Amino acid sequence: MGSEKKKRKKISELQPERTHMPIQDPAERIENFDEVTFGYSEEDALREAGRCLVCPKAKCTEACPVSIDIATFIEQISDGDFRGAWLTITDANLMPAVCGRVCPQEDQCEGVCVIGKKLEPVAIGRLERYLGDRAIREGWTAQPDIEPNGKRVGIVGSGPAGIACAADMAKAGCEVTVFEALHKPGGVLRYGIPEFRLPDEVIDAEVENLRNLGVRVQCNTLVGRLFTIEQMVGELGFDAVFIGTGAGTPRFMNIPGEYLNGVLSANELLTRCNLMKAGDFPGHDTPLGLGRKVAVIGAGNTAMDALRVSLRLGAEQVMCVYRRTFDESPARLEEIEHAEEEGIVFHWLSAPTEILDDGEGNVRGMRCIRFELGEPDESGRRRPVPLEGSEFELEVDTVVYAIGTDANPIIGQTSDIALNRWGFIDTDENLATSIPGVYAGGDIVTGGATVILAMGAGRKAARAMKQYLEIPE
Ligand code: FAD
Repeated sequence: MGSEKKKRKKISELQPERTHMPIQDPAERIENFDEVTFGYSEEDALREAGRCLVCPKAKCTEACPVSIDIATFIEQISDGDFRGAWLTITDANLMPAVCGRVCPQEDQCEGVCVIGKKLEPVAIGRLERYLGDRAIREGWTAQPDIEPNGKRVGIVGSGPAGIACAADMAKAGCEVTVFEALHKPGGVLRYGIPEFRLPDEVIDAEVENLRNLGVRVQCNTLVGRLFTIEQMVGELGFDAVFIGTGAGTPRFMNIPGEYLNGVLSANELLTRCNLMKAGDFPGHDTPLGLGRKVAVIGAGNTAMDALRVSLRLGAEQVMCVYRRTFDESPARLEEIEHAEEEGIVFHWLSAPTEILDDGEGNVRGMRCIRFELGEPDESGRRRPVPLEGSEFELEVDTVVYAIGTDANPIIGQTSDIALNRWGFIDTDENLATSIPGVYAGGDIVTGGATVILAMGAGRKAARAMKQYLEIPE
């Protein structure tokens, strides 16, 4: 009955703007690591769900890399069936509170929302987050009937790709163990994305959803050093293995001065802050002296996180240095807006050519050059062209590199698995690697991408692994 009522809704009857989500004041939030956005109340969620036309052939679901049945869960919210709505999501994705916060919905489900042609699209991500948060608050669990099938599956890496693959294999009845090198699970969700965007307790709660399916998560286990992939499918007796080890190796520019004290990668800065709690020094034993002025090179999500973390760690001036313009920057619009509100200074069309020494081995500044935009390059973005004679100096104490990452190399170094020429794992279209029974997906195959694409890859590999293990769908 609910659905009939909603199908008759007309665009002209809908509230044109999406329901506002409350947010921490910029002046206050730069002093703390608390979450920037507060999420919807039940009333907000009901109002926003009321803006959905519940399209019979929902484009939003087609645009979702993990195929969440979006129209159904929104309809269930409208009907007041919040738990049912959460179960609809967790059928496809165990991490709605995570994905509702960090997915680039504007390019996926919300980007194709039918009402978006005339009004603001339905805030699908905020609704997803509302359900995820409510499930955590109210302790909901999803425990489908699982028939054990006696197959053992090993997952290497506990990032989004590994988690999604583990969930599907566990639901299919396999005995699943996830091996994680770090002392806490979650991959980039844990060590990369800061608490003010994705609190630890959200990750903990949603990893618990995985444990509730019977998955074992074994941390402090560096596969390749403790045992190899070949040993996993050999003497350790795993019937199939999935590799989701991500792309965590930072890139540098190879310019003079990169050896100086005060030069670090965004991953190091963020890991020290997020995983090792440098923000709570000396409460946690992780020193991180950034000095007064910090420059971050790059303008993707990682750069925005490094900039905003530096501010919260006490730097007085934090600058983004990027060789293209705002229009080409890969970060989500919301992240750039939040960074601007917080007082980050943007040096567009600029890049360093040298990092300058204070005479004692520490950074004192950066020599930079300005660019103009030329013809589009192979990425389709206009190529930055250096402007002769435009050199200038920036006074900085710390330089943070956020210009992209490469594959984590250990698996490639310790097994005979085939790699492509950039060092990422080579797979066929079903994500099978060169070793029988071993699959791979996420950033270790594609290079740095997004949480939801990694989860989509984990699910795709799981489908192929089930076929390989002859487990009926
Ligand atoms: P990862 O998340 O990298 O997880 C890989 C895991 O494998 C890690 O835990 C690692 O410790 C473990 N591992 C590696 N080698 C071994 C080994 N040999 N043995 C055992 N374990 C191993 N995407 C978005 O969609 N939205 C965002 O807002 C966003 N922000 C980001 C911010 C930052 C700072 C960064 C770095 C990335 C961001 N991304 C974002 C990208 C997104 O996080 C990644 O694309 C995604 O996490 C990739 O998932 P994955 O599972 O492939 O790898």
